[in-house]
Amino acid sequence: MPVYCDVSLPTPLDRPFTYLLPETLRHRAQSGCRILVPFGKRTLAGVILRTHDDPPETAARAVHREALRLLDEEPVLDESLLKLGNWISTYYCAPLGETLRAMTPLASDIRRGKVYSLTSSGHDAARQFHFDDAAPDPAGQLLRLLDARPLTGAYLARKVEKAASILRALEKKGLVESEDRTAERHHRPVAATEAPPSALAPARPPHALNAHQQEAFDAIRAALDAAVFKTFLLEGVTGSGKTEVYLNAIDAALARGKTALMLVPEIGLTPAVAAQFYQRFGERVAILHSAFHDTERAQQWRNIRSGAAGVVVATRSGVFAPLRNLGLIVVDEEHDQSYKQQETPRYHGRDVAVVRARDAGAVVVLGSATPSLESRYNAERGKYTRLELPERIERRPLPQVELIDMRQEFLETRKQATFSRALIEAVTARLENGEQTMLLMNRRGFSSFAACRACGHRIECANCSVTLTYHRRDRRMLCHYCNYAVRVPDRCPKCDSEFIQFLGTGSERVEEELHSAFPRARIARLDRDTVRGKRDYEVILSGFREGSFDILVGTQMIAKGHDIPNVTLVGVVNADIGLGLPDFRAAERTFQLLTQAAGRAGRGETPGIVLIQTINPDHYAIRCAAAQNYEMFYAKEIEFRRMMWYPPFGALASLVVRAAREEDALTRSGTLGRLLQPPPEGVKVLGPAPAAVARLKNEFRFQVLLKATSRARLGEILAEVRRFAVFERWPAASLLIDVDPMTLL
Ligand code: ADP
Ligand code: ZN
Ligand code: ZN
Repeated sequence: MPVYCDVSLPTPLDRPFTYLLPETLRHRAQSGCRILVPFGKRTLAGVILRTHDDPPETAARAVHREALRLLDEEPVLDESLLKLGNWISTYYCAPLGETLRAMTPLASDIRRGKVYSLTSSGHDAARQFHFDDAAPDPAGQLLRLLDARPLTGAYLARKVEKAASILRALEKKGLVESEDRTAERHHRPVAATEAPPSALAPARPPHALNAHQQEAFDAIRAALDAAVFKTFLLEGVTGSGKTEVYLNAIDAALARGKTALMLVPEIGLTPAVAAQFYQRFGERVAILHSAFHDTERAQQWRNIRSGAAGVVVATRSGVFAPLRNLGLIVVDEEHDQSYKQQETPRYHGRDVAVVRARDAGAVVVLGSATPSLESRYNAERGKYTRLELPERIERRPLPQVELIDMRQEFLETRKQATFSRALIEAVTARLENGEQTMLLMNRRGFSSFAACRACGHRIECANCSVTLTYHRRDRRMLCHYCNYAVRVPDRCPKCDSEFIQFLGTGSERVEEELHSAFPRARIARLDRDTVRGKRDYEVILSGFREGSFDILVGTQMIAKGHDIPNVTLVGVVNADIGLGLPDFRAAERTFQLLTQAAGRAGRGETPGIVLIQTINPDHYAIRCAAAQNYEMFYAKEIEFRRMMWYPPFGALASLVVRAAREEDALTRSGTLGRLLQPPPEGVKVLGPAPAAVARLKNEFRFQVLLKATSRARLGEILAEVRRFAVFERWPAASLLIDVDPMTLL
């Protein structure tokens, strides 16, 4: 009977801790189970890495303490997931304990108790709250956290001091409401309600695959038969019917007695998507979505674990779903940024999927109309196998795209208008024909900033080095990075002049201008301001799909995967947003966004057109998107990456040193810079330099970029940097390491 267990705890100290097992736990504790242990004055839940009898070193014996309670009778992480956790921890330079915690389903089982959410006046209060991070106000912090999504009392208690009593006060004021979740544990899984029975009843039979789909599917099926690890890149133009190929592949995996996992982008997991899976696979489907409550997720997780659900559709963290006998992983829209986790562990869901499949001997299908440079390059090198769907379903044409040079438009009209004459005309025609329009404006708010005409001063966030965005409905200037909000000033805070000017257009303003230009049109808007809860998104989209609106205006949310046949016009109000960002992926992202947006037009029987307004009509990202020509874009972009040693060439990591005091950030980043001078062999070091957003949420930030010739070399250097930070006793949060960063901002 083992006497000890080594436990990995979610602390920045990156090593396991050994605990004594009480008699009662000795025959039950297994690796992969969670266990409650004392840690300093706290009690933490960790994951058992191994149980053993090795006597601890004498010096350490004194600190050996007893484990308190076993949380799982069966491991929540089996051997293969523990192994995956180890890989993630090493590759992404993240402490193992934090990695394992991110991999386990949130433990509603251990956190009996309440889930808090904001009432609508609570949401209003959260938006109007004057956030001052220098003197954090706990009530404000709570409002801000809950503004994003409902959270458990236990979580809030960890994040905010005296959370319990403040929550009670907020509840009395009617700003917060709570619900007891313990009772819900044995309820039907929420996914069943996500796919309304009505969606199951008009169930269609599977489409007969067309020749291209069949060819792609045959290749996948052959790999499933061979039952060895293989990765496909399914490159299919917008509207080519990729989903049908996925569904067939999943079917084939099930037929071979295997299980299947499909990952979709954060925003791609709508009830409409879920319904397709329920129609095809019925009760065997489990849905894992980050918007679900812990209890809902835990229930789905148990269904997967028990084998009742053999098909999992999930967002990023679903890559850790406890499927056994995994045969297939599909990653839809593999280029999507939401696959990268933006907090520790900063893993990329697509890449983790490939590693998991490799260990399981499973087949991977990465699908996209606009593959990431990394994936396409891997296909070129023979690491992945490329499959193509070069045509739309039923040979429907790709939409006709026209670029509208807004500089020329200005010269001809002498007016600084939001909509060109051609766009107005095209929308008018759609309204007359009862067809629908989507308008992309990839920036929210009314005006992007306010400036004083007299002295040029721009209204900036108090916590971040960025300008505030004017949100008209809220009558507030808002920071898009930290949610800081102030009243709209009627005088310049610097020179007291009353001539404040609002510049730059956002989606809110586009909506308003549409109302004036087309007073009779029914218009809806889809952006983070109109989508507050998990339902809003679907309510607006299904309203549009059902024809309750003529025009849908929105940010990149409208460009994602939607298949709405009556849309025959897509307009891009301003294609240039994002092009100028100091980020090597700016062109790639612009190309993807415009191509995906264009792909929403003409998916039904009536052909579609796309009008792209731009002042950079010669930029290759815009030209290639207008031609909907991925090959052309790839050829150009890959040369730029090669020349600059950016991914997919070499290995890239971003180090950000941050601190509340500028001197601390400056000294530490200086020390780090000296450590990396002269640059270690096989590595290029850029910086330290102020990060693109030099101050964020009241912290000063300096960035160092590492470009290494090999992955192994990068790993060595990063490990050294981490040891150094520990040796120098830097606070754990002061050094942020992002391996394969998706953004440098
Ligand atoms: P993509 O994801 O490649 O943009 P979708 O998977 O959304 O395309 O498919 C576009 C549309 O074509 C969907 O409405 C789908 O139901 C339909 N479709 C897919 N395959 C076929 C087929 N073989 N025959 C007819 N319609 C199909
Ligand atoms: Zn001024
Ligand atoms: Zn801010």
